[in-house]
Amino acid sequence: MSESLAIRVWVDPGCTSCGWCGQLAPAVFQVGQHGSEISAAVRCDGSSDDNWEHRSPLRENAIDAAEVRFLHFVAAGCPAQVIHVDDPTANTQDPVSGLPIAS
Ligand code: SF4
Repeated sequence: MSESLAIRVWVDPGCTSCGWCGQLAPAVFQVGQHGSEISAAVRCDGSSDDNWEHRSPLRENAIDAAEVRFLHFVAAGCPAQVIHVDDPTANTQDPVSGLPIAS
């Protein structure tokens, strides 16, 4: 995938370490006893933590467009509702097809 998207994913305080996000999207979320972290492998800043403070964007091409859309599903299913996906394309694409929504 070659889209350049300034996607930001972070986890607010309050994660219960249930493991949901890590099981569904292990390339992005790594869950330990201290909560879910956004993987260093996909972050511009190369850090691995909840990204709550830094809000580092995901590296270009770290995940593809389908995976970006899937992150919204993962966030919606978080039982603690602490996952945030700041996706500048979210309101311009059909969530199923990924095609632009006519305005
Ligand atoms: S789904 Fe939510 S509560 Fe569960 S590990 Fe992930 S961030 Fe934490």
